[in-house]
Amino acid sequence: MEIEAIEVCQVIQDVESQVTLVAGKATLVRVYIKQSSVTAVARLRGEIAVRASETGPATFVPALNELNLDPADTATLPDKREAIEKSLNFRLPENMTRAGDIVIEVNRVTQAGGADQPLTGTRRKPATFVAAPPLRIHCIGLRYRDTRTNTTHSPDAIHFTYLRSFLERAYPVPSVIWSHIVVDADFTAPFNVDTVVQANMQVAAIRSADVSAGVDPRTHYFGLVDDANRANFMRGRAMGIPATPQPDTVASGPCGAGNGFAGDTDASYADWYGAHELGHTFGRFHPGFPVGDQDASDPQFPFANGQLSNADRRFVGYDLGDGALGIPLKALAGPGHHDVMTYADRQWLCSHTFEAIRTRLRAEDEQFAPAMV
Ligand SMILES: [Zn+2]
Repeated sequence: MEIEAIEVCQVIQDVESQVTLVAGKATLVRVYIKQSSVTAVARLRGEIAVRASETGPATFVPALNELNLDPADTATLPDKREAIEKSLNFRLPENMTRAGDIVIEVNRVTQAGGADQPLTGTRRKPATFVAAPPLRIHCIGLRYRDTRTNTTHSPDAIHFTYLRSFLERAYPVPSVIWSHIVVDADFTAPFNVDTVVQANMQVAAIRSADVSAGVDPRTHYFGLVDDANRANFMRGRAMGIPATPQPDTVASGPCGAGNGFAGDTDASYADWYGAHELGHTFGRFHPGFPVGDQDASDPQFPFANGQLSNADRRFVGYDLGDGALGIPLKALAGPGHHDVMTYADRQWLCSHTFEAIRTRLRAEDEQFAPAMV
């Protein structure tokens, strides 16, 4: 069995594994095997050994999947990176993602019901994990009355759940420290262009009172407003796009069922929409895509059309999934998906946004950590 490549991935990764790995975050190892290793279709299983140092004790991890290796399959490495089933995949145990270095070694590849296969190619891959603070979010559902129908609307639990899950999966953090409540809104429907400003002012006032009362000042506050099946759509907005760390910058956004909105067909669009507005509170601007729909206020954005990768397919997105929500492990083709700060379809975090939010979170953590008492 000739090992073609080993990739260590969390949210977005390039072919040389240059995107930072966040300590304590869910991590996948992919082992690619050349199709020329077999003369007939083979079903392969595998095991990696993970060590904290070259000579330290090993933790052995079995593959999540069985790899069907077909000598007639012409998929190249870029093709295989974009198809999650075309590698042996391993989930690193949490104690192997602590800050610092590890060495991953392909320990065994076996044919189903058969013996160990001899291994050639590069069997080892070092990886380094960097410590990062958690994301602290307090989400406020704003319950409003529609004066035309005399009905009230507040976000269903599913929207809080999807937003929290997306932030956990896609943001450069080991975990999300999350809380949420629902309160009566200071505004009613029908909405107008000022509604989101009122929402943000209300959320900012709640945050100010909470922080005075002892809430961690690194906590970002987000207001969630139900769209009443699109009858009352409040366009999202952040109160500002701070150039320096300012966790008191709040944002608000709408929620409702995906129904194909920006390519989202699941139970909620609150996830990527909220991640976009929160991205602004971490200083992220708009890449400018689709051209004409969005202002281009981030001149450093590196990828064509707001994609996760240029046409060279160097970057692939990874969604490690959420079992509780039935969201499977997926590879997201770089040119077919778009950065969360765009207005384009199928959103995820590109490396530019991932690294920038990671850097900002660390700066907030240093500047706003509460004094020890
Ligand atoms: Zn925006």
